[in-house]
Amino acid sequence: MRVKGHGLQREGRAHDGLGRYTGEKVGCGLCQCGAISDEYDTTAERQRWHVAHKQDMARALGLSSWSIR
Ligand SMILES: [Zn+2]
Repeated sequence: MRVKGHGLQREGRAHDGLGRYTGEKVGCGLCQCGAISDEYDTTAERQRWHVAHKQDMARALGLSSWSIR
């Protein structure tokens, strides 16, 4: 699923709490819209956060049909 304007930055690799890329194992996910996740231990967890974030955004935008990638 892709939601316009909500791309996961650097494929979910770690950023600090201000959204600056760190490349560490532990860190926060960063969305294209500026949303920053909680701190997670793995990229996979950050990617899961981003899926949920996109679903929230799609719901908020009232998108009835999501484009599935
Ligand atoms: Zn976003």
